[in-house]
Amino acid sequence: MIHDLAVIGGGIVGAAIARLFGGTSLSVALLEARDDVGDGTSKANTAILHTGFDASPGTLESRLVARGYALLGAYAAETGIPVERTGALLVAWDPEQLAALPGLQRKAERNGYDATSPVDADEVYRRVPDLGPGALGGLSVPGESIICTWTTNLALATDAVNRGVTLLRGHRVLSASVGESTTRLETTGGDVHARWVVNAAGLGADVVDGLFGFSRFTVTPRRGELLVFDKLARPMVPVIVLPVPSKVGKGVLVSPTIYGNVMLGPTAEDVDDRTATGTSSAGFEFLRAKGLGLMPRLLDEEVTAAYAGLRAAIDSGDYLVDVDASQRYVLVGGIRSTGLTAGLAIAEHVGELLTGVLPHEERADLPPPPRMPNLGEAFTRPYQDAAAIEADPEYGRIVCFCERVTRGEIRDACTSVIPPSGVDGLRRRTRVMNGRCQGFYCGAEVQTLLEARR
Ligand SMILES: Cc1cc2nc3c(=O)[nH]c(=O)nc-3n(C[C@H](O)[C@H](O)[C@H](O)COP(=O)(O)OP(=O)(O)OC[C@H]3O[C@@H](n4cnc5c(N)ncnc54)[C@H](O)[C@@H]3O)c2cc1C
Repeated sequence: MIHDLAVIGGGIVGAAIARLFGGTSLSVALLEARDDVGDGTSKANTAILHTGFDASPGTLESRLVARGYALLGAYAAETGIPVERTGALLVAWDPEQLAALPGLQRKAERNGYDATSPVDADEVYRRVPDLGPGALGGLSVPGESIICTWTTNLALATDAVNRGVTLLRGHRVLSASVGESTTRLETTGGDVHARWVVNAAGLGADVVDGLFGFSRFTVTPRRGELLVFDKLARPMVPVIVLPVPSKVGKGVLVSPTIYGNVMLGPTAEDVDDRTATGTSSAGFEFLRAKGLGLMPRLLDEEVTAAYAGLRAAIDSGDYLVDVDASQRYVLVGGIRSTGLTAGLAIAEHVGELLTGVLPHEERADLPPPPRMPNLGEAFTRPYQDAAAIEADPEYGRIVCFCERVTRGEIRDACTSVIPPSGVDGLRRRTRVMNGRCQGFYCGAEVQTLLEARR
């Protein structure tokens, strides 16, 4: 079969692009190297739905983050992706940072975001009483929100498949032969033929770009390590506490998570290895020291998990989106630290760039967007839902007691449009084994349930 369009990369960006074109007259394939969608950078980030207040004004990233914020907020409401509108507080800890706040407020306005407001030190401590001593003032950013990155990726990919996109997992693209009217992609899962190709390969985008004869950028993985604190810490962090960004980067934040925990991080360290998602003792010590300054009492709470994600950093200060009509090829690269938020807008932008170049029509017969299982702690979960349990007692049978995940949810995930390929995928679809015991109690039962469904 020859597809009209092949999208390489099943992260948030690739899934959003496949979903968009799946809604048209084109036949689309979504190729993912790994056994599951959302198993790359899109699974390990700080999961903040950014307003884009601190982007570089005038960049493509600034425009697409602001647009993505609106698009994803609306899509989340439609599909049940959990979002908590916590707001953020940017805190100044020294006179230099305090002096930088008015400039940040002006920058936010240049990015089209005018809801920030300065707050004095008393107000900072009124909003976050557990902050460490020494805060001099802050800037309130009420729109910043927390979201579930796992459900976002899965909703987009599920929507794409429901719209008729062919999802090809375990298809790592190894080479590309551009012919007169079609391109042959040699992959680890066999050859795939398509008229047009979109490269949304995240950390591998420069390598895929090279397969089309380009050497225009290099991805330098920038590792970000994070610590996750137990749910008992959650009341200490009612809002996202942001540092004042510096030339070195955005810095370390403390944030509530959508699952009812608290996270501290990320670090920012350039590494050579594109698979180096392990955590390190140096990262742990760095975050511990930062945390002691930011919120000493938080460090008395237990750390339930540590993880790391790799930002696809490139030397340009902006996203790299380019259409090469002669090869019928689109590059979507350098989506570093805002791609969760911007994914839907990036897809929209690619759609606009291809209008007229790749003729297509909107379909009138689209299925409704999928309704995703709720993983958010702030919203009703199956074990709390008497009516759901009444209708199906499997929602009353808890398997994972830390995260209160039921047999019904595990069954649903295993029989869903994109079932998990292993335990990690099941974790991202249900929260199972993600709690304070990290699967010590339920791991064997979860494995058995998963295998029984294969
Ligand atoms: C520490 C950290 C914190 C972050 N915090 C936030 C945040 O709070 N808010 C926000 O909006 N963004 C945040 N981000 C950024 C966001 O996570 C990324 O921008 C986004 O996930 C990128 O999505 P993607 O689809 O481009 O890449 P990915 O999710 O990495 O997807 C790319 C996919 O391509 C596949 N692939 C690669 N090569 C090939 C090949 N040859 N053939 C087939 N498939 C291939 C990979 O397996 C992968 O699944 C953060 C990132 C990090 C690391």
